[in-house]
Order: sequence, then C-alpha cells, then structure tokens
Amino acid sequence: MLPFKLVYSDAYYLPIGEHVFPAEKYRRIRDRLLATGIAEVGDFLEPEPATDLDILLVHKPEYVHKLKTGTLGPREEMEMEIPYSRDLVEAFWLAAGGSIAAAREALADGISVNIGGGFHHAFPDHGEGFCMIHDVAVAIRRLQRDDKIRTAMTVDCDVHQGNGTAVIFAGTQTASEPLPSAGASTRSSSPPSSALRGRMRGVHARDVFTISLHQHNNYPMWKPPSSIDVDLPDGVEDHDYLAWLDNALSSGLRQFEPDLICYLAGADPYKEDQLGGLSLTVEGLKQRDELVFRVARARNIPVMVTFAGGYAQNVEDTVAIHCNTVVAAKEVFVAEK
Ligand SMILES: [Zn+2]
Repeated sequence: MLPFKLVYSDAYYLPIGEHVFPAEKYRRIRDRLLATGIAEVGDFLEPEPATDLDILLVHKPEYVHKLKTGTLGPREEMEMEIPYSRDLVEAFWLAAGGSIAAAREALADGISVNIGGGFHHAFPDHGEGFCMIHDVAVAIRRLQRDDKIRTAMTVDCDVHQGNGTAVIFAGTQTASEPLPSAGASTRSSSPPSSALRGRMRGVHARDVFTISLHQHNNYPMWKPPSSIDVDLPDGVEDHDYLAWLDNALSSGLRQFEPDLICYLAGADPYKEDQLGGLSLTVEGLKQRDELVFRVARARNIPVMVTFAGGYAQNVEDTVAIHCNTVVAAKEVFVAEK
C-alpha cells in the first residue's frame, strides 16, 4: 500500500477519436502500475467531478455557458484542437475534480498524484492546445476558497510553456532577484553552462507563484510571463535540464513560500516526443521528478502532481515515463516516512 493516494477514473478518457494526444494513456498507466506491483487497487481514489461553481472560480461565465450548451464558435473549437462534445466537457469537469481531490490528499499525506489533468493551456475565456478547463488552477482556487491553503506554486515541467497558468495567476512586479541566479543549490551539480542559450526571466506573483521550464522554440508562440520562465534551447539533455530546474526551484523558493506545490509532470520533454524538441531520457525524466519531490519534502511543502502532455512515438514510453513519476514519489516519500 502506498502512503499516498492516486486519483483516477476510467472516465478520464478523452473522447477525441484518432488524435496525437493518447487519450487512453490514463487507463494504461493505471493498468501498468497495478501489473508491476507499484500500486494496489486500494491506492486509487475515484474523484467526483468539479461543480460548475468550482469551474467558475477560474473560468468566465460566458465560456462555461458555451461549453455547457455546445455553442462554441468554429474558431474557438479549432483553437482548442480537440473536437467538442458533451462527453468531452464531462471528462474535463472530472479532471478538475480529480485535481481538487489530489490537492486535498496532498495536504493530508504530503503528496498525491492525479493520474490525469495538467491542462495548462486553458485560459479563463477559451481553451487551447488540447486543454478545455485548467484543472490545476481550479484546484488551487477551490482550496483557497475553502481556507485550506493561502498560497501555491506551480512547477510546470511540460515541454510547452504554461501560458494559461501564467495568465490566470498573472504577476504584477518585476522580480527583485537577478535571474538566472546560481545561489544555494539543492543539487551538487554545476549550474547551467553559459554556453547554453537558455534564459530565466521572472515577475512576482501575488498568491500563486508560477514556474515554467519549457522549450523556447515551441508552442505557444506567445508566452505570457510566469513568475519564472526558463526558456530552454532545442535539444537540452538531462544534466543541463536538471541544473536549470534546480536553479528555478531554488530561486522560486527563496522568493516565495507556498502552502502547496502543484507539479505538472509532462512526459513531453522526452527525446522521442513528437511535439517536443528537448532530449531528455526516461531516466532523466525520473530524476527530474525525484528532484521536485526531494525539494518539496525537504521543506515540508505538500505536492500535488498532474500528468499534462506526452506524445512519444511509442505510447508505451509515455506510459512508462508517467508511471516512473509514481515510482519516484514512492522512493522519496516511502523511504523517508
Ligand atoms: Zn506539452
């Protein structure tokens, strides 16, 4: 039995037909976790869908109305890049409910993983890039409304920038700390070499601090400012990626003390991803997860995980990368409990 919960439902499946987004990945992750003995049936928690009131904590009433009545315009549907249906709306409401549940469970156990979610390209008034509803933002706003947390930090390691997150939690002030900063490092590895043309830039948030590590030359074209954006050049490999992540986490946690970390563990920085241009290995991605979990655990900050994107040539690779996130959580949180 794991000392934390995995939030999952068969109804996470996105009814989008033949699509680059492997909608069946959630069920395959669950099956693999059970088949390999990483998790047991009792580790899984079935979520309730978010309520409309929850969704409205983040999204505009006009947009929610269009989704519920099937009245999106053709352009709005095109921008979402997934075909609208009532069933799809239900799947997104459920994903948001799953992230709310995972956030609550994280506060109780130190960590919880939603085997879904991470739809970081959803904006208050429209959907984009396979994302209709921003489940992570809904979870943060719901827990704030319930007085369970005051502040949160998003750590977005999907290969694509978290544009919806950045807009929803837009900051107002320029960072007082020079970036990139070496400073106290949680890893012993050297800081990213200056030969790397990546760069870190930042603005302060108010109650939610947003960190995004992403490939610069990739969707979205317009990258609204996160609290910290790490714009990575094409082809970054494990060692440099981990050094950038370590620096971003150290810098963020020097500036901000969150009550909850929301980690978006995208599988698409993988070297064989069809929609990504970074060069991380399966092992490097697991080290990435371990780094986030160790930092959170060392500071006693609960961490809620969502899975976001993953478009490997071979879907089994995407499934393995996501399962490794649970393994990493197990290693960090069981060993030291
Ligand atoms: Zn992505």
